[in-house]
Amino acid sequence: MWIDQNGDTWYRGNLHMHTQCSDGNLPFAEAVALYRNAGYDFLAVTDHWHWCDAVQEPGFLMLRGCEFDVGASVQEGIYHIVGVGCEGDPELVRKGKDLSAQQIIGQIHAHDGFAILAHPSWSLNRPDRVLKIHDIDATEIYNTFSGIPWNARPYSGDFVDIMAAEGCLLPCMAADDAHRYAGEQCRSYLMVKAPALTREAILTALRKGDYLATQGPMAQISIEEETAVVHCTPAVRVVFYSDGVWSNERVTEGDGLTRATCRLKPHETFVRAEITDAQGRTAWTSPIKTK
Ligand SMILES: [Zn+2]
Ligand SMILES: [Zn+2]
Repeated sequence: MWIDQNGDTWYRGNLHMHTQCSDGNLPFAEAVALYRNAGYDFLAVTDHWHWCDAVQEPGFLMLRGCEFDVGASVQEGIYHIVGVGCEGDPELVRKGKDLSAQQIIGQIHAHDGFAILAHPSWSLNRPDRVLKIHDIDATEIYNTFSGIPWNARPYSGDFVDIMAAEGCLLPCMAADDAHRYAGEQCRSYLMVKAPALTREAILTALRKGDYLATQGPMAQISIEEETAVVHCTPAVRVVFYSDGVWSNERVTEGDGLTRATCRLKPHETFVRAEITDAQGRTAWTSPIKTK
């Protein structure tokens, strides 16, 4: 939990990880305890095609979660959709892998849950195809377990930018997607601004986009008089991303940066920022419209 300069409360959580209920290395209770002991406030265990029954403990919120993976090849389209916060028992768990990504998202929403497109770069998701899938609530921009030494393509910023340039501004999330618990766990997570640590308050905040994907730094982006402005905890680098492919103000570097700016040009339609601290940890703001 972190309280900002306005007195608002931010809760730390992970919405994508696995246990022995699917292909993770740790037993369910051991994995949950690991996050709790690491200072997390909430967690969704998202085993493949398996809704774990979340046992609530005081001061720690468990959201029901599941990862639905469909598609046998990149040519066909591989989609991993993480559903969190669902109530009841979504029928799709029983229906199995012949479902489309769109049907899975529909089922998650029918059970009052939140649908996240997991690791689109790892899956080699094509923006032109994802644009045809409706009602995705958010996308992972960073997934630790998709990265080296476990895998490849942890970073989906290019996907986010192409989607945003086409007018689809997907809110950005980060998760560790822990499977092996060999150093990937607790590296990338979500900070959610909410008035209370309850399912309703966290889901409301998720739907409003009141969260930050991060590995440590805290940051917020806004637009003031045609300039994108980032306020952040001390950083060594702030980089702005938009659909303007050239900008000589894109990168600000220095020691202890707490503010950075980038003047926007008339043709730029969105902007987002990545903030890196002295320990090499990054935060990713979601893209926002420039007008
Ligand atoms: Zn996955
Ligand atoms: Zn996963």
